[in-house]
Amino acid sequence: MGSIPTQTIEQVAAANDIVEVIGAYFPLKRAGSAYKALCPFHQEKTPSFTVNPQRQSFHCFGCNVGGSVFRFVMDYEHLDFPSAVKKLAARAGIPVIEDRTFSASDDRQHETRRLLLQLHSEAAEWFHENLLKREWARPAREYLKKRGIDGKIAASWQIGFAPDSWDALLNWARERGYRRTDILQSGLVKPRDEERPEGDVYDRFRGRIIFPIHNDTGEVIAFSGRVLDSGAETAKYLN
Ligand SMILES: [Zn+2]
Repeated sequence: MGSIPTQTIEQVAAANDIVEVIGAYFPLKRAGSAYKALCPFHQEKTPSFTVNPQRQSFHCFGCNVGGSVFRFVMDYEHLDFPSAVKKLAARAGIPVIEDRTFSASDDRQHETRRLLLQLHSEAAEWFHENLLKREWARPAREYLKKRGIDGKIAASWQIGFAPDSWDALLNWARERGYRRTDILQSGLVKPRDEERPEGDVYDRFRGRIIFPIHNDTGEVIAFSGRVLDSGAETAKYLN
């Protein structure tokens, strides 16, 4: 959403490993399953700046900055969100084609944007509730627990789980009153036949742990999905 399509933002997030990105600015030292460095955002003598490859996040225990790879580039380079996305897109060789649908300022387009943001926000809550409460999400909870992600971290990151179903999200969104065209435009469902978007659609995220991606004002604008198996790192992310 915004002017850069959601799918592009997700691709850029998946293609930019946070350890590699930050490690290109200054050296990181491995410390267990994480990486450490002297914090670039405050003066210190012992490293409290930590990069977590599992969560693809950074955090400083000294000055409390932290977030995704986008947040790091925004803070370190003093860029706004779209510029950080473009910079990381260029790094990964991903073309950014800005979506002009949202750049004009007529009411209908504002309304569509507001609606899609609301759908993303509610979907993030739904994914999160699934992870916390549903019996069928137990394997996901255990998977995360094994990787040191407890309920508190899952709550602060609003990590969620998408059921292994072709239409659970579609049905949930329809029940909440969202129109099919809006659900389709959100990218949360895909048409079976790209040539015929009016035909059957299916849930994009199935049986995946879901990480919401926020813009610089904290709105959920995209999702990154991760499967539970332990295949190659690159195959774990859906983009
Ligand atoms: Zn710091």
